[in-house]
Amino acid sequence: MSNTCATGSLDNIDQIRAQAPALHALGVCATCILRSAQVPLGPAYFGTTDSIHQALHLPPPSLPSLSTPVPCPICLDTLSAAIHSQITTAYIAECFDSPTLCITIEFPKSIYIRQRSLAIHTGRAPVDIKDTVKYVLGNRLYQQTDNRVRIENETGEVRVEVGFKHEETAMEHQFLVDREGSGIKTKTFRKKGVYHTTGDSKTAILDELDNCGDAVIREKFASPPPAIKLPVELDFLNFKRPSLFIGGRYLKLERNISQTPFVIDGRRVTELSVSEVIGEPIQKLVRCDAYNLVGSGREDADVRMLGDGRPFYLECINPRIKSIAPEAVSEIENQLRETKCPVQVRRLQVIQAAATSIIKEGEEQKTKHYCALVWFARPLDETTLCEINRLGEAPLVLQQKTPLRVLHRRAPLTREKTLVGLQVAHIEGHFYRVRIESEAGTYIKEFVHGDIGRTTPSLSSLAGNITADIIELDVENVSLDFPPASLKQ
Ligand SMILES: [Zn+2]
Repeated sequence: MSNTCATGSLDNIDQIRAQAPALHALGVCATCILRSAQVPLGPAYFGTTDSIHQALHLPPPSLPSLSTPVPCPICLDTLSAAIHSQITTAYIAECFDSPTLCITIEFPKSIYIRQRSLAIHTGRAPVDIKDTVKYVLGNRLYQQTDNRVRIENETGEVRVEVGFKHEETAMEHQFLVDREGSGIKTKTFRKKGVYHTTGDSKTAILDELDNCGDAVIREKFASPPPAIKLPVELDFLNFKRPSLFIGGRYLKLERNISQTPFVIDGRRVTELSVSEVIGEPIQKLVRCDAYNLVGSGREDADVRMLGDGRPFYLECINPRIKSIAPEAVSEIENQLRETKCPVQVRRLQVIQAAATSIIKEGEEQKTKHYCALVWFARPLDETTLCEINRLGEAPLVLQQKTPLRVLHRRAPLTREKTLVGLQVAHIEGHFYRVRIESEAGTYIKEFVHGDIGRTTPSLSSLAGNITADIIELDVENVSLDFPPASLKQ
């Protein structure tokens, strides 16, 4: 056999072959024997056990089996097919439609000490454990998904966070903490009845290992690493994918619907919310963990949202599905229309994350058109009505103190707001139709009744201090171009 081992050429193959049976006898797994031999990551790592054995001149696996149940004292079985299968099975069950993923791994601290201990024993540093686990695990997933899912370390779409734990060796790094002049400074504190230790991070342990001579490792730990009884377990396994954003405009054709669920002391105040009406069918479609509706401002629950609707986007958190046909999204829009739902959507579409800033930035720039049904304590005379409408043709600057009704959750400030347009028309008796175009953030109800002098001028003060009350309010237009056609995916 030549001095190559599947993909890597090895100058010291004879030495490695000489050490392989001894490592095998220590319970070191086939993959760790390859790592220890500094075989570069490549097909050798997912070759058959036969090929590994052949390359290393180990007896055929049918004789003393490599699939011995003894866990590997080097990788603690983080390279074993059994634990990888737990991860790949869970990942496949999620059915992400992404072709790429990246993996982050948290190892038990003892693994770093054991790598060093092995290096001292063989005279060579093994191939990096993290790189190897990612490589082997990635390949297993690739095969199990019929070559559909591959690892891209920097750019993989779904982040797979794997945490391994190994109770049996959990305190093996203690000698590094205890030794004289140790750079590891630990602190133990109690939180909610549980003791936590900080300071012995992976970086601190690796730094301290660098400061330790081989003799210290041999004396205070061991070389080769001692056998273990149990393999590692999964401590955590998370799958995280960047959010998907769906934008559109919503209409609220009835009153008493809040934008997001309105709950006080665990009881729902409104039966319906815009967020749930739109969010639930989308959640089913993209299979996200949660969703969050962000509107370009919000109207009160008792205010209708008419006209072309209010721009919003829905952030779908951790979606399993991102490739959605535009028809599937339109179907949600149609469904709401056909069932005559009081919440309707228009221009529903997948948008790029960058487009969401339009909603946030538009908050300050947009103007809104309102239509209110107002009751005055006594009918306005013709002169007053004309005077209000004449004033309403030019911009009207208001001083608004934070309304009493929101004072419990907003800072007490005086804001200057401009009404761009104001029109009052008599309907009958005490009732008037009032149309208002105002800049974002104007409190319309307070402009009408004056909020006991906290908004000046108010419709009530303009009418000569006649009590005015708002009976119904509708938003008729939110002038913000969203979703933008240019940012359409
Ligand atoms: Zn191993």
